[in-house]
Amino acid sequence: MTLPTVRLFLLGGTITMTKAPGENKALTSSSGVVPVVNADDLCRAVPGLDQVARLVARTDHMIASGNLNFQHAFDLAAEIQQTAQTGDTDGFVIIQGTDTLEEMAFILDCLLDIRQPVVVTGAMRSPAELSADGPANIMAAVTCAACKAIGRAGVVVVMNDEIHSAAFVTKAHTASIGAFQSPNIGPIGHLAEGQPYLLSVPVQGPKFALSASADIPKVALIKAAFGDDAFLLNMVEKSDCQGLVIEAFGAGHLPESYLAALDNMTGKIPVILCSRTGAGHIYQHTYGYKGAEMDLIRRGMVPSGIYNGLQSRLLLTLLLMSGASHNEIEKTFVI
Ligand code: ASP
Repeated sequence: MTLPTVRLFLLGGTITMTKAPGENKALTSSSGVVPVVNADDLCRAVPGLDQVARLVARTDHMIASGNLNFQHAFDLAAEIQQTAQTGDTDGFVIIQGTDTLEEMAFILDCLLDIRQPVVVTGAMRSPAELSADGPANIMAAVTCAACKAIGRAGVVVVMNDEIHSAAFVTKAHTASIGAFQSPNIGPIGHLAEGQPYLLSVPVQGPKFALSASADIPKVALIKAAFGDDAFLLNMVEKSDCQGLVIEAFGAGHLPESYLAALDNMTGKIPVILCSRTGAGHIYQHTYGYKGAEMDLIRRGMVPSGIYNGLQSRLLLTLLLMSGASHNEIEKTFVI
């Protein structure tokens, strides 16, 4: 039987991290773990992986995921999109640090328009820890990438034997191996006895055919807080950012201290209203007081629908890159 071909791209993260040999001072300033294990060694450490797929593994980067940026995502998306079109690959796996994994998965989901599975994974525990979860996550991710049906779900995140949609998943714990959750819909599938089961297929989000070399606009993300006098918002107002996302209270509410700066900004740049709660829709027609969603929308803020702050920042960045009008921005967010 011919095995499916799966291409694996390693970007770094805890899954690659162990103590640097000889306390290499170029890699670390302390005795903590740093990226060391490359893609080939990672795959060799997973017994039976070569029975699941013909793996083509590549080490692209060995960095903590907080250092990944839009350029990395665009480069990866361009390569996957092109490779998928040649038809010689059945599925793709991206391995990276979990800290920004949800954002990479979300951007890839917006940029890729292919039928093959694309699976993002990582590990919460380094190879040096007891019960490291990296090998099991790699096995599960490659198994899902080798399964044609998973391609129907868009980009997915596979961790802890759960399959999550890139459109909904978020890292919700600092350490748990079950850190990845999808608050609005739950996992869309799981693995049982090593087999992937896709239980639901989420609605597909917007797609962008953008090139890697386009300029990346600056979009600020701020979060409202108790007793907030808007000092951060006032600093952003003076900046040269091209878009702003505000994580507001509850269903989309801000203190009155925000209103003057907002009035100055909404006519100039898109300002997205999302919730700091992490789940549920932004309201549009319920609360009427100053600073509530009806007032904020009237003042020109764009409700984010169900997108959280991190997702809204990415989506607005892509919309600005694609030259979207205010009307198109509003339509994309209100889902
Ligand atoms: N700091 C690490 C990173 O995001 C954590 C991880 O891999 O989970 O690269």
